[in-house]
Amino acid sequence: MQHADNYDIIIIGAGPAGCTAAHELADEFDVLLIDKGDLPQDKPCGSLLNEDSIDILKNWEGVSDILISPSFVTLGYIDFDNKITVKTKRQFWNTDRKKFSSWLLNRLPQNVTISSHTLFKDFEVVEDKIEVIVNRHRSLKLKTKYLIGADGTTSTVRRGISTIPPRRSTLYQVLVTSSAETNNFTWFVFDTSITNYYSWVIPKGDHTIIGTAIEGRSKRNMDLLLKKLSQELRISTEVLKTEGHPVIIIGNLNEIVLGSDNILLVGEAAGFISPSSFEGISYALQSGLMAAQAIKTESNSVIDTYRKLCNPICRRLSDQLEKTQVVFDKEKRSAYLKSVMNE
Ligand SMILES: Cc1cc2nc3c(=O)[nH]c(=O)nc-3n(C[C@H](O)[C@H](O)[C@H](O)COP(=O)(O)OP(=O)(O)OC[C@H]3O[C@@H](n4cnc5c(N)ncnc54)[C@H](O)[C@@H]3O)c2cc1C
Repeated sequence: MQHADNYDIIIIGAGPAGCTAAHELADEFDVLLIDKGDLPQDKPCGSLLNEDSIDILKNWEGVSDILISPSFVTLGYIDFDNKITVKTKRQFWNTDRKKFSSWLLNRLPQNVTISSHTLFKDFEVVEDKIEVIVNRHRSLKLKTKYLIGADGTTSTVRRGISTIPPRRSTLYQVLVTSSAETNNFTWFVFDTSITNYYSWVIPKGDHTIIGTAIEGRSKRNMDLLLKKLSQELRISTEVLKTEGHPVIIIGNLNEIVLGSDNILLVGEAAGFISPSSFEGISYALQSGLMAAQAIKTESNSVIDTYRKLCNPICRRLSDQLEKTQVVFDKEKRSAYLKSVMNE
């Protein structure tokens, strides 16, 4: 970190949301981007990019560097409850999360100050500034005009401005050796004996990620999932690595918190993540762009501008909320899967 203790903008969290906001703001403002962890971050993640993410990233220089083999995966569904297997035509970009994080950081202009291993602790609004307490070897007090909370699922910035506690669950992933059946396909798997949500199978180079959302009894359910998938897709059940990470599961739009005055929340810190698929990267990129646009727009109230700009994102989230009523319901899901067959 430089010696300055006064910035125009301090961003907490160097994930996709924080990096995107930092990139867009750097041409007009002094930006400090901090993260408590190692940078680039290597978060447990399926790292599939959907149409909305691709739409944003496709024209950003060097984006092909983040892809991993197979670069494109086609979506298929396995519904063990209803004994249905469906292949769709929908495709995702398949990325390596660490390369993605590294690329997002590398494209930041030189004037963005980046500080890893720096923990955001607290803030206080003092007149027209925000005093920010961080810890890097020792406690430091910094000043900023705008604070952006891009600090993910367990956001400390969010706790400072909202009493609405987000509901969370834990997503687990294991890494196994690839099999021919997982090549070029990503499988979304429904089985209520394993999870009330869903599980996923994603090929990554020579390996395959198997992930699932489980509340409790994780080992037993993961073992059962691997057993079923070894029969269905002939995947290996020899686990090379296990990882877990919490995720926010919103039940309605009131659980989205966008900020207060000159403090904005972006990405998962705001609650932006699909409750039906846990796809969050497109929301992180979009809200990062919107927060930057709100700050750059000269208006009396940055938070009001940001709220308006986020309307389309909230509408998309609302559609995803409706989708949970279908895909997580055994009976309704069967008709839905037949309808998307060839989509
Ligand atoms: C297992 C799993 C699989 C997933 N698969 C997909 C997928 O395939 N496709 C997809 O689109 N989405 C997926 N997601 C969701 C996606 O990972 C997130 O939605 C996305 O990373 C959110 O980006 P973000 O920038 O908001 O937060 P994050 O990427 O979580 O970044 C937050 C950053 O803030 C830092 N931080 C937190 N607290 C502090 C603090 N107090 N001080 C300083 N720094 C702090 C953290 O170290 C972290 O680097 C998955 C999530 C999980 C858990």
